[in-house]
Parts: sequence; C-alpha cells; structure tokens
Amino acid sequence: MNIHEYQAKALLKSFGAPVAEGVAIFSADEAEAAAKKLPGPLYVVKSQIHAGGRGKGKFKELGPEAKGGVRLAKSIDEVVANAKEMLGNTLVTKQTGPAGKQVNRLYIEDGADIDRELYLSILVDRSVGQVAFVVSTEGGMDIETVAHDTPEKIVTVAIDPEAGVTAENLKVLTEALKLDGEAKADAEKLFPILYKAFVEKDMSLLEVNPLIVMKNGRVRVLDAKVSFDGNALFRHEDIVALRDTTEEDEKEIEASKYDLAYVALDGNIGCMVNGAGLAMATMDIIKLYGAEPANFLDVGGGASKEKVTAAFKIITADPAVKGILVNIFGGIMKCDVIAEGVLAAVKEVGLKVPLVVRLEGTNVELGKKIINESGLNVISADDLDDAAQKIVAAVKGA
Ligand code: GDP
Ligand code: MG
Repeated sequence: MNIHEYQAKALLKSFGAPVAEGVAIFSADEAEAAAKKLPGPLYVVKSQIHAGGRGKGKFKELGPEAKGGVRLAKSIDEVVANAKEMLGNTLVTKQTGPAGKQVNRLYIEDGADIDRELYLSILVDRSVGQVAFVVSTEGGMDIETVAHDTPEKIVTVAIDPEAGVTAENLKVLTEALKLDGEAKADAEKLFPILYKAFVEKDMSLLEVNPLIVMKNGRVRVLDAKVSFDGNALFRHEDIVALRDTTEEDEKEIEASKYDLAYVALDGNIGCMVNGAGLAMATMDIIKLYGAEPANFLDVGGGASKEKVTAAFKIITADPAVKGILVNIFGGIMKCDVIAEGVLAAVKEVGLKVPLVVRLEGTNVELGKKIINESGLNVISADDLDDAAQKIVAAVKGA
C-alpha cells in the first residue's frame, strides 16, 4: 500500500525526522488560508499523487509550456493561482504512464533554500536478507538513470537487524554522501530515525529523493515516498486509515475484497491461476508464444465458486482482455469442483471472448468431461504448452 507525500512526511515527523511545515488542501478555496499558516516568503505547491517525477511532469490540460506538478511560489497570491491551475487536472509523469493521474490534493509547503540534493532510500535487500540503505550524492533526479550511467555513485549499506544502525554504518553513509559539520550531525540523528520508522511500520520502501542540505547547513526530508508491506497492514490501523483508494486500480481493490492476488498488466490475455508460482509460469509461457498477459491473478488454494466468479468478473471488466486462460492445479480442490465453478462463473458473468481451460491434478478426467460436455464455448487444453498455444491462437485469430 502506498500513501501520499504529505502523509509520509507527517509520519516521519512523528518519529522525529526534520520536514518542512506544510498544509494539505483538497480545493483551491483552501489555498490562501493554508499559505497564511506558513512563514514564507518561499512556498512550494506540490501535487499529491501516488507517483514520482511530479516536478518534471506535465498537466494534460495545460499544454507543454505550463509548469510541472511541483511549483515554487514567491507570494500567497502565487500559491493561490498555482493551486487553481493544478487542482482537478491530470498530471503525467514518468511514473504515471501516459494516462496520468488526476490531482485531487495539493500540499502547500514552506520552501527551502537548497544547497545540495541527495538520494536516500531504505528497502528490503533480498540478496542479503536485510534492510538496507541506498544512498547517492546524485539526488533530485531519476535514480534509475544514476544506477545506469554512474553505478559507482550509488552506495548500499545493509543493516544487521540485531545491531540496528551502527556507528560504522553511519560513517559509511555520511562519507558516501560527503556530509560534514552540522549536516553530518543531522544525518547521524536522522538515519536511525528513518530506520526505526521503516521497521516499526513494516514499510517495504522508504524513498527520500531528495534529502537536502539547506543553505543554512541543515538537513531536511524534502520528498518522501513510502510503501507498506500489505501482509503486515492488519497490525497498523493508523496506516490503513491513510489509504486513498482513488489512487488505486479499481480492479485491484475489488480483487482485494475477495482475497485474490491481482495485478493489472498491459496485455490482452486474462489469466486465472491458482498459486503464485504457477501464475508466474503462466505469464511466462504466454509471452513465450508471442502474446502478453492482461493480469497476474492468483485465486489461491481454496478457489471457491464465489472466488472464481469474482475473478471472472474482474478479468472480463478489463476492456483490453481478448481471451482468458484458466490454468488450475487441483490439489486440495478437485478438478471437477473447479470445472463446475468455472462453468457457473461463465454462466453468471457471460463470456464474449474465447476461454481456454487447462486443469491438472485430482479428478482431472472428470473435470475435463464436465468442461467438454457443458455446451459452452470453452476450449479444453491438455497441458500448459497446449493451453498457451490455444489461447494465443484464439486471441490472434479474433
Ligand atoms: P518529484 O518531482 O515528484 O520527485 O517531487 P519532489 O518533491 O522531489 O520535488 C521536485 C523538485 O522540486 C526537487 O528535486 C527540488 O529541486 C524542487 N523543490 C521541491 N521543494 C523545494 C523547495 O522547498 N525549495 C526549492 N528551492 N526547490 C524545491
Ligand atoms: Mg522527488
């Protein structure tokens, strides 16, 4: 789960991290009052969407000459004018995809005088099985570009969970960021705070890009992108309360209601599979035969009729879907039960695109018989290869 920048900053502030004063607003009417609460004379008007690259982003409605999604303002009037121009419009950034995201919230912030922009993130480094800091002196820009062009400018420091952030870790980090004096002292206080927030709140990513050194020599969190581990949300009611479902894919929200693991993708073959590994393999083999999956969908071990029906509804709601591949291994569930579930779902939802069903496991023969004798336009497949070829052919022929 992701949250907005202003929410992330409030959270980090509660742990003691230095952030600017700011006020979140939902309509342009609130802009003047918000700005009046801040000291000035420099303000920043920041689009709140669940995507980065806002500064360099462009508003669809405003044309290429207009300013981006993060704007500096030198007076309260300028804050208000910018708020009016930005709210309700669609911001397209490197991370939103071409459709962009509608800006429904703005964060009005006290502007900082920036000396240096640094990069810092904390993530779970699977290669070492530890939480790690990733830092670079090249902040404020696309870290993927830095990683590609100048990988030596990125330093990774894994944190021993028993010891926490040690003095040695801090030395490596502050040297990598070329910090000294007050900025170094600020960073030495800040990094353990960020680590604590990351661990206590079960974050999966905490990205501060940029972390800034201001002209007065002090350090501040200027941008904050936070993602939480969905499997740990049950123990963080405060975090769940920050969820903004308007930022999420509608189909993914619907799927989460039925405990379906669903991720929307760009292709045109809808997939319904049980087990994450089998789902990955199914996506791979669709690509192998020259097509693209429209989604990842794991219906889980106990795929009930209700779950299968919900999954069908979600898959068919995507207008890009030109065919569906059901690939289920009947282990705990028997294939005949799954076949009945699939047919019931097809009858209820209605089906306008080709459907290929591949079943394997307990009672597989009975399952196939039920599918073949259903009278519905369902194509039965023998194995994964056969299934993938049949659905790709059906979609390409259509
Ligand atoms: P992003 O584009 O979505 O990553 O949004 P950021 O919050 O990182 O802001 C983008 C850029 O705007 C930063 O890298 C800064 O260069 C600039 N910026 C943001 N806030 C301030 C500020 O308080 N003062 C100044 N001078 N520049 C700022
Ligand atoms: Mg940023």
